[in-house]
Amino acid sequence: MSIDVVNDIIARKRDGGQLDETRLNAFVTGVVDGSIPAYQASALLMAIVLRGFSPDETLGLARAMVESGKVLDLSVLGRPVLDKHSSGGVGDKVTLVLAPLVAACGALFGKMSARGLGHTGGTLDKLESIPGFRVQLSQGDFLRQLERIGVAVVSQSERLVPADRILYALRDVTATVDSEGLIAASIMAKKIASGTSAVVLDLTVGAGAFMKTVEQAASLGALCRLIGESYGRKVTCIYTSMEAPLGHNVGNRLEVEEAWEVLCGGGPDDVREVVLTLAAALLALSDLGVDEREGRARAQRALATGQAAEWFERWVAVQGGRFKPGEFHRLAGNEVTAGRDGWVSSVDARAVGRAAQLSGAGRGRADDEVDPAAGVVVSAKPGDAVTAGQSLACVYARRREARAAAARLLGDAFVIADQPPVPGPIVLGRD
Ligand code: URA
Repeated sequence: MSIDVVNDIIARKRDGGQLDETRLNAFVTGVVDGSIPAYQASALLMAIVLRGFSPDETLGLARAMVESGKVLDLSVLGRPVLDKHSSGGVGDKVTLVLAPLVAACGALFGKMSARGLGHTGGTLDKLESIPGFRVQLSQGDFLRQLERIGVAVVSQSERLVPADRILYALRDVTATVDSEGLIAASIMAKKIASGTSAVVLDLTVGAGAFMKTVEQAASLGALCRLIGESYGRKVTCIYTSMEAPLGHNVGNRLEVEEAWEVLCGGGPDDVREVVLTLAAALLALSDLGVDEREGRARAQRALATGQAAEWFERWVAVQGGRFKPGEFHRLAGNEVTAGRDGWVSSVDARAVGRAAQLSGAGRGRADDEVDPAAGVVVSAKPGDAVTAGQSLACVYARRREARAAAARLLGDAFVIADQPPVPGPIVLGRD
């Protein structure tokens, strides 16, 4: 593409103008075929962040991104395939529980997941912390597995939404992730291309999330719904708190262990509540003919009876994994302790996520290897009474320096007050 055409597109947005479909298509095509270099793409992304992006532009970008690659056809299954996406979090092991749970209740759950980047974790890294687990499946194997056991979670195909892979990597290193329009187009282009029929979005809010207020998250939800509905997909938005990490464990295998506790009917209340809320919403979108109330009751039963745990074991085995609870290499840990008596009033999810990333559980760069056993266990959550010297958290890492650096960060994540905090709900709303 000629440099003048690209310049014109960038200048138009820089000056507050609107980008029509032709220009958005030209931009996405140029990014994918390499004729628009990273510096020009980054300039446009920054102009979008600073000048804003209208709903029409967001829809236009999502369409152009969907058309940048293949779109899966799941219609041969003859049944709706349900999907879920979180806008990012710390300790977010919800998919690990939700996927087999929804399948155990009789619906189909198929999902293309991502790896962690920055301070947030990714489902693929968590699944790969189970020895042997294969996240790369062909389209044929993905379909056959859905037919056979009703659940498949795989890595995104290279050919689905290639524009998102390029743009997301650029956004991550140019401080241009935090744009509602760019986030909505990125999430929904992947959902549309993966061919699923209905999606429940877990839109996280708070210190560890991209969206800091429920209003911002609701506005993101409205854009996602606009895109989904323009393709005839049903979209339910659930808003959840990501002020503190979800559950106690942050880090790949550590999160699998905590997910297993929830699958066996126990585990932390906040994780279970998010899982049950999402499961109810998904089952109500399925072909089982149940409303959310009945969906929640079925999901609760599947957790309480061990049916969901059995389904998890089958699913993991079918994707090649060898899972034995508690059987993993434990790393050395550094404790972080309370400096005084009081109540934990907040635990900064972003700081905990950064500490887990430093421990080796996350990546600094997209091509870094993650350490499956590294991470953080948060033992004191908001509302807990603590005494001076009591352990608040422990960071596990292979290298001593990484442990020390992560522990320093972690120390600043906790605020201890004289009074207990007013407890807030984990599920903040829905529409
Ligand atoms: N998740 C995505 O898939 N894309 C974004 O831009 C942000 C979160």
